[in-house]
Amino acid sequence: MLDALAALPEDPIWGLTSAFRADPRAHKIDMVIGVYRDDKGATPNMKAVRMAELALAQDSAPKTYRALAGNAVFNAGMARLVLGDAPARIARSHVIQTVGGTGALRVLGDMLASLRPDTTVWSTDPGYVNHRPIFEGAGLKPQLYRWQAKGDALDLDGVLADLAAAKPGDVVLLHGCCHNPTGIDPDADMWHALARFCAARGLIPLIDIAYQGFGRGLDADAAGLRVMVDAVPVAMVAASGSKNMGLYCERIGAAMVLGPDAASIAHVGRHLETLTRANYSMPPEHGAAVACHVFDTRTIWEEELNSMRARVQSLRQQLADALAAIDAAPAFQALRHHQGMFSLLPLAPDQMESLRRDHAIYGTATGRINIAGLRSTQIEQVAAALRDVSQ
Ligand code: PMP
Repeated sequence: MLDALAALPEDPIWGLTSAFRADPRAHKIDMVIGVYRDDKGATPNMKAVRMAELALAQDSAPKTYRALAGNAVFNAGMARLVLGDAPARIARSHVIQTVGGTGALRVLGDMLASLRPDTTVWSTDPGYVNHRPIFEGAGLKPQLYRWQAKGDALDLDGVLADLAAAKPGDVVLLHGCCHNPTGIDPDADMWHALARFCAARGLIPLIDIAYQGFGRGLDADAAGLRVMVDAVPVAMVAASGSKNMGLYCERIGAAMVLGPDAASIAHVGRHLETLTRANYSMPPEHGAAVACHVFDTRTIWEEELNSMRARVQSLRQQLADALAAIDAAPAFQALRHHQGMFSLLPLAPDQMESLRRDHAIYGTATGRINIAGLRSTQIEQVAAALRDVSQ
């Protein structure tokens, strides 16, 4: 029976991560995986997280089963973090804890599939590599819409032209901030235009927010999402605490469903719980308990997150400056305007391969690099290599 399993290619991102580990070159640089690193190349345990874990170790609560929806205090904290201190918005939302942002995307996909199996999910092209497998896995139909730059900004006309083919009831998957992989985010006016468009056409926005705090700040990064959910009767959100709390391996996330009013969401919770019950039963408690403490020490958390964001922004500018100083192709200057950890380089797969082979610099074959993987001492090495492979 098992011999029917065909050999599959390695996951494009995790495969490169293994290749990087095996690479003996001392000057190698890993810009593949979407993980924040400090200037020593380490991923820090954030201070608020360390404080939380110390407190939890003293507390030592029993490890009995928890609720199917996970930790209720965590869910309320995530709702406030993402949706804001807005009682009316919170009242029309239902939130459950999920296994990372990935788990949130999947359970929302499963719910959509159980409601209307022929739902089409429109996702960005280029987009996050796992979006399509997640929604296809849930049995939904994938479609793509363009997500590219016009000048220094998002080409909103291109987005709306492609989404003109969407039918009422179709789902539009948007990145709340720090678009993965392009780093191109809508500005405030564009969010309003997107919200009007979805409202007028009866489209259901599903907003994936995995990098809140890495673009402009915790609240600023959720501003567009809030405009969107206020404009439409039904919206969904998949939020992750992996990056902004540095809780990657604890698998922290939340799925949110917003209806037109509080009464309309009465049955949402039981549906989501039924879906997770048949899958993994309930989410793990530890990361959620940590996050509850983190929410309580928000100033400490936010200060550190702000300095992480400032580091990435400064690396971006330094890399763009270094590329300008050596007269690299002007197309590289676009990375100055991007938000978050990622940028998509104007390089073809063979140029990315040469970057790896000849310069020991690892990005994905599609040209995505994680700026947060850089140390300030490596800027010139990377700029010279980028110029070299692009010539
Ligand atoms: N959405 C996007 C756009 C992401 O980049 C990621 C993580 N790479 C996720 C969702 C999933 O996050 P998590 O690790 O919390 O499952």
